[in-house]
Amino acid sequence: MHELSICTSIVEAVTQSVAAYPGATVKKVSLRLGVLSDIVEDSLRFCWELTTKDTPLESAELAVAAVPIVMRCDHCQADVTLESLQSFRCPLCHEPVNELLHGREMEIESIEIDDGK
Ligand SMILES: [Zn+2]
Repeated sequence: MHELSICTSIVEAVTQSVAAYPGATVKKVSLRLGVLSDIVEDSLRFCWELTTKDTPLESAELAVAAVPIVMRCDHCQADVTLESLQSFRCPLCHEPVNELLHGREMEIESIEIDDGK
């Protein structure tokens, strides 16, 4: 379950960024999760409960935004969004596409903190 180590690194990164605000608690962490990232959102949420305990993130909400698959089509030089994982073909010209631009990312988009003031 690699979601556990992902949560641990998110908690570490966020804890570091809020260290500049003593006493602050984290209200919300927003993630961008590519649909090809092979991270299971349910597992991520389960691990989130475990890894945020006794940290400044303990009561933080985890928001997950799905990032669709976007690929570059060499044939029509367009960036195309694929609706389905079944076919890696350009929806415009139906040529195969193989350059992935988005869809594998897992990144922290934003952090909301409550500095207690
Ligand atoms: Zn195309």
